[in-house]
Amino acid sequence: MPYATTQAFVLGGQPLKEQDQLVHLLTADRGILKAMAPGSKKVRNRFGSLFELFTEGEFVYYWQEDKEFITISKGEILESYFNIVSQPENIFYFYLMAEVLLKFVPYNHKDKRIYKLVHAILRSRAAGTAIEMILLYFLTWILRLEGMMFNPFICHNCYREKPERVWLRTDFRGILCARCRSNESLMLTADELLYIHWTKDNPPKDLSLWKDKIDRAKMIRIFKRKIEYHGEFALNSSVYLPEFK
Ligand SMILES: [Zn+2]
Repeated sequence: MPYATTQAFVLGGQPLKEQDQLVHLLTADRGILKAMAPGSKKVRNRFGSLFELFTEGEFVYYWQEDKEFITISKGEILESYFNIVSQPENIFYFYLMAEVLLKFVPYNHKDKRIYKLVHAILRSRAAGTAIEMILLYFLTWILRLEGMMFNPFICHNCYREKPERVWLRTDFRGILCARCRSNESLMLTADELLYIHWTKDNPPKDLSLWKDKIDRAKMIRIFKRKIEYHGEFALNSSVYLPEFK
């Protein structure tokens, strides 16, 4: 059986048999791997707290035929964020981010920017950036990396540049200026459009700049709906967030 090593973030697990679990690992250059962790549900096991949500670890694994489905033989924690992730005010936001990743990142996805994004948001939360700002930044980037983010500075109907306010088309593909809008209801302000552009070249640690300029709850709701629309699925863990109550 071939062996390999990978660095990865744990995106949660589910029990398989009595003592085993199936975990999802987000790798930098191979997308999400489904990994069997034998014995990891035993009270005393060799993995310790390695499989907590968003723990970054180094994993030694082997596979038989299917390279997407691996078995972990050894692993160690590189960095644990669990004390941050598990805090009551954070945990549901991280559940939602994990759900988005699980639904969007395919096996063998080569784009390393998703891995870097996860690193950056975890570090920023550890440094005190507001969790809602982090979720919004994450959703903005996921849309961009999946090629689904619209150009924030142009009306998709008349090509007018830098409209003051825009409305999202009902099929979420692009934005409309005040002149082109008919019954669309999801509106973004000039600052909110600027924010979308800003995220492109700026790290999440500077997000506090936008604190009073954008309606983050509204933007979270819009981007979550946009992701659901394009992905043709529902993001179930969002029901626990105050933005959706
Ligand atoms: Zn227009």
